[in-house]
Amino acid sequence: MRTSAVWYPFTQHALEPTMRHVVGTEGAHLIDEHGARILDALSSWWVITHGHRHPVIMEAIRKATETYDQIIFAEYTHAPAEELAKGLIEIAPPGLAHVFYSDSGSTAVEVALKMALGYFHNLGRPRSRICVMEHGYHGDTIGTMSVGERGVFNAAYAPLLFSVDQLPFPESGREQQTLDAFEALCATGEVASLLIEPLLLGAGGMKSYPASVLAELKRIAERHGSLLIADEVMTGWGRTGSLFACEQAGISPDILCTSKGLTGGALPLAVTLCTPEIFDAHLSTDRRKTFFHSSSYTANPIACAAALANLDVWKQEPVRERIDSLTERHRQHLSRFAGDPRFDDIRQVGTIAALDLKVPTGGYLSEVGPRLRAFFRERGLLIRPLGNVIYLMPPYCVTDADLGRAYEAIDEAASLFVAGRL
Ligand SMILES: *Cc1c(COP(=O)(O)O)cnc(C)c1O
Repeated sequence: MRTSAVWYPFTQHALEPTMRHVVGTEGAHLIDEHGARILDALSSWWVITHGHRHPVIMEAIRKATETYDQIIFAEYTHAPAEELAKGLIEIAPPGLAHVFYSDSGSTAVEVALKMALGYFHNLGRPRSRICVMEHGYHGDTIGTMSVGERGVFNAAYAPLLFSVDQLPFPESGREQQTLDAFEALCATGEVASLLIEPLLLGAGGMKSYPASVLAELKRIAERHGSLLIADEVMTGWGRTGSLFACEQAGISPDILCTSKGLTGGALPLAVTLCTPEIFDAHLSTDRRKTFFHSSSYTANPIACAAALANLDVWKQEPVRERIDSLTERHRQHLSRFAGDPRFDDIRQVGTIAALDLKVPTGGYLSEVGPRLRAFFRERGLLIRPLGNVIYLMPPYCVTDADLGRAYEAIDEAASLFVAGRL
């Protein structure tokens, strides 16, 4: 009997009637009502970077609540937002000079798209096309579904989605096709922007591509006066090994979106960073050139304080060493699966490891997904495969023992699957 009034996200209630109650969190763990500790091997949907309830971030939140709640963010400003903007510009790829606040990854991407079209509109040279990459994911609003991969997730809403130009994913050995497709689209002179997840496409199946492809896409965009929007909502904050994934390609995007790890995962906050050219195109005594965007909770001071504390953690703690260590431990664990006939496409980008369980029919709705999830759940592991794609994205504080347990479970699950017992 269902007693909850809550309609949960990405949940088929007819198949999953029971929710497990979490009564607390600590480090890499969720603690349930029976006191069981569950390894949060996906960082609570990719947001928790250092670990749950990092003391420095929690303390900053407590302190901020003594002074602030929500404050209107037009005509009035506050220190947490000002300081955070400065701090972000210092560490972001060079050339990004302005910070626009919002509250989720989806809104950060919506803001980016509006900035890109607003830029060309205000310059009096309107461009209307947005290029995206096959398998991309940028959120679940109407706008961000429009720029994401079409499929079972958004089939019902297709009539509301706007059209975009899709580049083929740069599969190994076929990278040139992606570049050629982009070059051809840019040649029309109508491409306002390429919106892309740098190095790793997350929700689309943890698909990685080389930094050299990203660098070349940036060069093509530049040549044709098109903007590059980097969606670093997931890849930011060390996930791919560097603070931002763009660093590995040696590029600066024209617009950069980031959210998930911005507050270390403690509170919702997002930013869209842009170059002076884009800001300046909106700077005018003509009020019609204003950037018309806001949301009620823009630049929430407590969330900004949490993000400032996150910047301190990055400066004062050996975060990069933890990331390097996790990267190396993944590499060692994954090596046991090299050449393993049960898996396809074993891959790793920094702190994220993924492998495809070989199944007759893959894809997000692959029957094996929920069965794997149940198997891991029984073992106290929060691992949610994307169909047959099993991935681990734990907080950077994960211990050797916990990480080892996760890999053991993957091994065991694959054996059971092969034996027809999963
Ligand atoms: C999660 C995600 C988003 C959407 O962020 P929300 O905070 O869930 O709205 C956008 N882009 C990427 C790459 C993401 O992984």
